Amino acid sequence: MNDSLRSIVQVDAAAAALEAKVIGWRRDFHQHPELSNRETRTAGVVTDHLRRLGLKVETRVAHTGVVGLIDSGKPGPVIALRADMDALPVTEQVDVPFASKARATYNGQDVGVMHACGHDCHVAILMGVAEVLAAAKDGLKGKVKFIFQPAAEGPRAGEEGGAALMIKQGVLENPKPDVIFGLHVFAGIEAGRIAYRPGPTMASADRIRVIVNGRQTHAALPWRGVDPIVISSQIVLGLQTIISRQVDVSLEPAVLSIGAIRGGIRDNIIPDTVEMLGTVRTFDEAMRADIRARIRNTVELIAKSAGGSARVEFDSAYPVTVNDVPLTERMVPTLERVAGKSNVFLGQKITGYEDFSHYQQKIPGFFYFVGITPSGIDRKQSAPNHSPHFFVDESALLVGLRSLVHLTLDYMASTTQPG
Ligand SMILES: [Zn+2]
Ligand SMILES: [Zn+2]
Repeated sequence: MNDSLRSIVQVDAAAAALEAKVIGWRRDFHQHPELSNRETRTAGVVTDHLRRLGLKVETRVAHTGVVGLIDSGKPGPVIALRADMDALPVTEQVDVPFASKARATYNGQDVGVMHACGHDCHVAILMGVAEVLAAAKDGLKGKVKFIFQPAAEGPRAGEEGGAALMIKQGVLENPKPDVIFGLHVFAGIEAGRIAYRPGPTMASADRIRVIVNGRQTHAALPWRGVDPIVISSQIVLGLQTIISRQVDVSLEPAVLSIGAIRGGIRDNIIPDTVEMLGTVRTFDEAMRADIRARIRNTVELIAKSAGGSARVEFDSAYPVTVNDVPLTERMVPTLERVAGKSNVFLGQKITGYEDFSHYQQKIPGFFYFVGITPSGIDRKQSAPNHSPHFFVDESALLVGLRSLVHLTLDYMASTTQPG
């Protein structure tokens, strides 16, 4: 057996020996989920673990974020690994002994809290990766930065948070990573399998808020005012023609949805204003800019044509998650070795967003999907991420752990420039 083979066997043995511990951590986080920017208990568990392993640890980055560093003391690349920590305002309906009973106040409402997106798995996996790599420190070169990130689901209105705030607070400096890896557990992919895509992988997301101003009048005398409800109806239909008639959807798909319309108080009053909320998803930054301009035009000019006015606000913007193509091609053989060649496949584009995209705008990154649906369950019947029935086949945790360990070691081994 040559040296590299021997180290692969050793690392896999170390990972396998940690499996029960990782599952235990995941169940603990699952039972104690915390909403975005409120991940204090989770961050505490992570911090204690990293300190016990002897890592250099920074806490309270972007509110509750934790950053750990392994410095091998030898020249080599700086590799960042990221796990997100937040849970969702979802009331768990999965029948497991460690089901969440947590509750919290969210937007003024009492809500259940659940790790319905599987970030509990991500945290547990990355803690395991830190343990394996800390034990193998003498064989490493360069540095490994562990980023435990809050608020990937998005901070609440009026708060900053997530990857963007971590970057603002310097997570990609001192040392600056050459590359970043991240994974997401994903329902609908069988446990044991891994999906990836080079290039655009997850959508950009822009939240839009449209405010339509008319002039209040009696509903029996519409000509005495300006009706923002009719204007809003025309705007909704006008917006739908942007994707279907105005952009080249043969290039990349796009989605525009209005999810809320609020206006009016009773049947016989035409109100002054209507507010609409929606979201736009694209897979190309130029298309994204073009669609935003078209939305503005459509909203403002339709309102003007009816004698009213309207404005659009864009917020909580997430860029397209774009996997660096050469990096993806370089790392896929590693995933194939970890999961078996037939278990690694080219996944579909996902119209959900991922704030991992912010890191990828600064440095090359690779983000991939680890299946968690038990075999034998129809993938279309499996409860999706964010469902109260979201269920994780925990055999996926070891796959996730091994994949990040091997990506790190392979990238290190095949990089020659000093860090
Ligand atoms: Zn999510
Ligand atoms: Zn997620």
